Parts: sequence; structure tokens; C-alpha cells
Amino acid sequence: MPRRTSRDHDGREAHGTRPRGMRHVSVLGPDAYVSSVQAIDLDALWRDGVRVLLLDLDNTLLPRDTNVVPAGSRAWVAGLASRGFRVCLVSNNWHERAHRITGELGLDLVDRAIKPLPFAFLKALSRAGARRSEAAVVGDQLFTDILGGKLLGMRTVLVSPLSATDLPHTLLLRRLEAVVLKGRVPQP
Ligand SMILES: [Mg+2]
Repeated sequence: MPRRTSRDHDGREAHGTRPRGMRHVSVLGPDAYVSSVQAIDLDALWRDGVRVLLLDLDNTLLPRDTNVVPAGSRAWVAGLASRGFRVCLVSNNWHERAHRITGELGLDLVDRAIKPLPFAFLKALSRAGARRSEAAVVGDQLFTDILGGKLLGMRTVLVSPLSATDLPHTLLLRRLEAVVLKGRVPQP
């Protein structure tokens, strides 16, 4: 079994198979922090045994203030199945919009997730027939997506939000996210 190590303080990649940008920070620190879903090192996740991606929707796959999934996100999602990944959307959203977009993408959705609570993640894992060790949570918020994944011991990937538009309480939490991330910047 390969030894897992993290980047050193200069950001140099040490030995191991951790995806780009991965390091352990804290219960709130994502394992990886990238600029977009397209920047996620899927090969490294696969090598680490990840077979299921639990994806956030708003500001992860499409901007919260639009109803159109960008072509880049659409192509990325389409490529996941061909790589062998199973996918389930886990969203705090419950509106018709979320269901319609999910249908357009051909994905499964667990809505009303109340992230970071564990129930929706566990439901998504059950639907995907996967163990926590086989799953990675991908999302744009530390206090919902990343914390929820971490509390269940899953891998986590934080992506930069696609839009500055978000719910008022989320915009407030963004300030706390900046404190937790301590100047950490997303991998391009
Ligand atoms: Mg989101």
C-alpha cells in the first residue's frame, strides 16, 4: 500500500497518491481545493479507490443565479461515467429547478439534504451501493459540503464557487470560509 503524504510547506508534491492540492488541514479543511470541477484530478481519486462522487449542484456545477449548466460542467459530468465513476447529486435545494437540471444531466439527486447533516450523504451512498471509503464529496461550501463529508470520514474536494451570487447566510459563511482557508488558493 503506497505511503500517503501531503505537500510540504512550500507546496511541493511529496511521495504518495494524493490528488493535486490535497493536504490535511483540519476537520474543515478540504483534502483538495481546486478552481472548478474540471480541475479535479480524477485519475488520482480513482487510484485512491474513489468510485462514487457525491456532487453539490448550485455554484459547483452551475451558477446559482442561472438555470443553464455550462458546457464545461456538462461535458465533465458526461465524462465521469465513461471513467467508471458513479455519481449522485446531494443538494440542500428542493425546488423544481434542481430536479429539472438533474434530469437534464441524467443524474440521481438527493434533495433537501440539510448538509452538513449526514443523512442525505448516507442515502446517496446507499443508492450508489458504495462505502464511505469509496466516495468523495465535491462542493463549493466548507460548512455544508466539506464539513458534511469530513464528518463521515469521506474524501472532500472544495471547488471555487461559479458565482458570487448566493443565499444571504451563505455569503456570511463565505467570510468564515476565508478564515479557515487562511489564504489557501485553489489549484488551477
Ligand atoms: Mg453549492
